[in-house]
Amino acid sequence: MSIDISDIASKDRNSVLHPFTHLKDFATGAMGDPTIVETGKGIRIQDARGNQLIDGFAGLYCVNIGYGRTEVAEAIARQAYRLAYYHSYAAHTTDQLAILSDRLVRMAPGKMSKVFYGMSGSDANETNAKLVWYYNNLRGKPTKKTIISRERGYHGCSVISGSMTGMSFYHDHMDLPLPQVVHTGAPHHYWGAEAGETETEFSARRAAELDRLIEKIGPDNVGAFIAEPVLGTGGITPPPEGYWAAAQAVLKKHDVLLIADEVITGFGRTGSMFGSLHYGIEPDLITVAKGLTSAYFPLSASIVGEKVYRVLEDGADRVGAFSHGYTYSGHPIGAAAANAVLDIVEKEDLPGNAREVGAYFQAQLKERFAQLPIVGEVRGVGLMGAIEFVADRDRKKRFDASQKVGARISKAARDRGLIARAMPHGDILGFSPPLVVTRGEVDEILSIAESAVRSVMDELA
Ligand code: PLP
Repeated sequence: MSIDISDIASKDRNSVLHPFTHLKDFATGAMGDPTIVETGKGIRIQDARGNQLIDGFAGLYCVNIGYGRTEVAEAIARQAYRLAYYHSYAAHTTDQLAILSDRLVRMAPGKMSKVFYGMSGSDANETNAKLVWYYNNLRGKPTKKTIISRERGYHGCSVISGSMTGMSFYHDHMDLPLPQVVHTGAPHHYWGAEAGETETEFSARRAAELDRLIEKIGPDNVGAFIAEPVLGTGGITPPPEGYWAAAQAVLKKHDVLLIADEVITGFGRTGSMFGSLHYGIEPDLITVAKGLTSAYFPLSASIVGEKVYRVLEDGADRVGAFSHGYTYSGHPIGAAAANAVLDIVEKEDLPGNAREVGAYFQAQLKERFAQLPIVGEVRGVGLMGAIEFVADRDRKKRFDASQKVGARISKAARDRGLIARAMPHGDILGFSPPLVVTRGEVDEILSIAESAVRSVMDELA
C-alpha cells in the first residue's frame, strides 16, 4: 500500500497530540516531519520513505519477540473472527483468558493466586495501589495506605502511577505527586554512593533510609513499596549488590507489601523470566505489561499474591463485589495475543537468549565504551544496557544540560540507522533491543553506536 507522505504528515501535525514531544517545536516544524513507521521485521522497522532503522530499544522496551511475527498476527485474527470481544465482569470469561491466567499464575515468582487485567502498565499500577488500599481496609488497618516508591523509579503517567514515578519532570505542571505517595532514595551507586562506599555498604545505607522513612511516617500508615527490579527509564541501572535482600528485610519488619513493577523486566529481559527471580525478590503484587504481548496488543496485568488475595476473598461477605474493572479487562484478543507471544517466549527460550546474547552485549558494551574519556559508567543486565556520559570522569561532573550531549548522541545514532534512546535523566544512551537479537546484530548495533558516540565526542573536544 502506498501512502501520500505529505498528506499523512500534515494530518498528523494538525491533529495528533503526541506524548513526550515538544509541542511548539513539532507544530512549527522545527523538529522536522513525523516519522511515519510502516513496517517491521525482526529488529528492524521501516518508514514510509523506505528508510530502515535498527530498533535498539524494541519500541519502548516492549517488542521482545521482534517485529512481524505472523504467528501472533494469526492468533489475533483467529480470535477476532471467532469472538472479538466479551467482558470479564460477573464471572464471564473466554478460553484464552482462563488459559493465560492459569499460565501467568504458574509462571510468576512467589505464591501468586489471581490475575487482574488492564491495558497499560500505568493502569496496572493504579490497580495495584487500589488493591493495597482495599486489602488494608478489609483487614482492619484503614490508615496503612502510603505508598513508597523510589527517586528515578518509573511507574507510568496516570495520576497514581505518575505520582509513583520518581522524576520531577513527570510531575511538574501536572499537580503531581499526590500526597499518598512518598519517595525514597534511588539504588543508584554511581551517583548516590559516597566516596569509597562499596555497593553492599551503599545498599545497607539505602535500606536504613527506607527504614527511617517508614518509622517517620509510622509503620501503621505505610501500605506498600513499589519498585522495578532494575531501574528502567530512570537510567537502566541494575541494583547494587545486596540491595534487594536489605530492602525486603525492612519491608517484612514493618508489614509493608512489595509491588514488583516488572513492566520492563517481565518475560525475559534480564536473562531470567522475571526480574524478581533474577534478584531474589518475593513480591506480593506484580505489575506486567509490555512483554506480556510484546506490544502486539495493549494488555497489562496485576498478578495478585495469595496473601493479598486471601484477605480480599475472606472480606467479600462483608463488602460485596470487588468493585473495580475496565470494559477491556481480560480482552479476548489481548489474551490470545499474550498466549501466542508466551508460546514464542517459551519455545525460543528468549530469557536464555537474553542471558547468552545479553552476556556478549554487556561485555561488548564495556569493551567499546567504558574507557572513552566522556563515559562515566557502562552498566546493564541481560538485554538492557546504558552508557552514561560525563564531562569529567574523575570528578563525576555532568555535562551542562544545554549541551544536550545525550540527545545529540542519540540523534547521531539515528542518523546512522540506529534507534538508541536518550534517557530522560542525565546524558544516558539506553539500549533494550528485542530479545530475539543475535550476536551479529549486537555487533551491528554497537558499531553504529560507537561511531555516533565518537562523532559527538569529537565535536565536544
Ligand atoms: N512501569 C514501568 C517499569 C515502565 O517502564 C512503564 C513504561 O515504560 C510503565 C510502568 C508504564 O507503562 P505504560 O506506558 O504502558 O502505561
